[in-house]
Amino acid sequence: MYISIDEAKCMGHGRCYGVAPELLSDDVEGFVAQKGECWKVPDDLLGEAQDAADACPEGAIALLEQAPA
Ligand code: SF4
Repeated sequence: MYISIDEAKCMGHGRCYGVAPELLSDDVEGFVAQKGECWKVPDDLLGEAQDAADACPEGAIALLEQAPA
């Protein structure tokens, strides 16, 4: 499973890194530091990835079966 964070949608609510501290972190302005990135989620952090996607009120976090082309 891959996690993708849409930089344009992220408004810095900070909920994602609050529920997924092992997967995500914040930058100096309160946005998720990994915005604009897409990477493979380690199996043991899939729960955190789902929690982060569910927590984002902007729908900025997507979980993907495959890496985008
Ligand atoms: S919860 Fe969503 S809007 Fe808030 S920092 Fe995370 S990705 Fe950005």
